[in-house]
Amino acid sequence: RAKQEGRGRLRFYEARMGVQVRERRQIEHDLRHAVERGELQVVYQPQTRIDSGEAVGFEALLRWHHPERGIVPPNLFIPIAEETGSILGIGEWVLRETCREAVSWDKPLRIAVNVSAVQLHAPGFAELVHEILFATGLSPARLELEITETALIRDLPRALATLRRIKALGVRIAMDDFGTGYSSLSNLRAFPFDKIKIDASFTRAVDSSEQAATIVRTVLGLGRGLGLPVLAEGVETSAELAFLDAESCQEAQGYLIGRPGPIGGFQHLTAEHGKSAAEDAA
Ligand code: C2E
Ligand code: MG
Ligand code: MG
Ligand code: MG
Repeated sequence: RAKQEGRGRLRFYEARMGVQVRERRQIEHDLRHAVERGELQVVYQPQTRIDSGEAVGFEALLRWHHPERGIVPPNLFIPIAEETGSILGIGEWVLRETCREAVSWDKPLRIAVNVSAVQLHAPGFAELVHEILFATGLSPARLELEITETALIRDLPRALATLRRIKALGVRIAMDDFGTGYSSLSNLRAFPFDKIKIDASFTRAVDSSEQAATIVRTVLGLGRGLGLPVLAEGVETSAELAFLDAESCQEAQGYLIGRPGPIGGFQHLTAEHGKSAAEDAA
């Protein structure tokens, strides 16, 4: 009886695995055509200075509108795109699209773009960034590339060489999701970072966990010591923002300040004499 049940369960798992494998292949396949079919969209999330509350830039976040599945979250499809190599075309599209968009703003706000390990290690990535800046006319100082530590470790010397070439263009580099993954303090020193982004998992816990608060204070101290500004990700409550302000964290990003959305909804930030959302509604 137990054996039979066990076999039944096994068959159930096998069936489910089959679906997962098939689903994955389908996603891999569909991803290959997502750019040309116009299914990808970039949404923008504001990044602000904590002391003045003023917007300093936006992070570009990718959305995939799948014709049958609806919105597929990046945490699901980006790892697949990295494995199949689709990320190269997708990443190039995101970079070009966001640089072109940022050029149209009245205010010279920064645009932060996530770069995957596969892009960073692909031959000619620095040249691609150069070409896109040239083609769109975006001032290099307005572009910030967000790189995770995990993206560096594949080939540290190669990553370093590429990032140095990108830095030489005048582009900024931010370390994303700091404190998660394979954190190594030597990376912070060896790599030409301009900013540290504290992962949302720490920000979220500063009110409830003394450990999280200590980690955030330590990263802020590290930033001060190294002369690197720190941005806290995932700020959702005013208590979190107050904590970060009291600890002299420079920048914040999160639902409290603004959820990621189409750039049209942020005209009050990008336009010189932009109408506020309230005025717009009136
Ligand atoms: P990330 O770069 O760390 O981006 C921040 C994530 O936190 C985004 O999730 C954002 O929507 C979410 N977020 C922002 N504020 C809050 C908040 O207050 N609370 C909570 N709970 N979440 C918040 P999203 O858009 O789902 O993106 C997930 C990840 O996918 C990104 O993490 C990034 O690693 C990757 N990703 C997104 N777009 C791209 C892209 O164009 N290229 C590459 N290579 N990766 C991307
Ligand atoms: Mg990011
Ligand atoms: Mg992050
Ligand atoms: Mg992340």
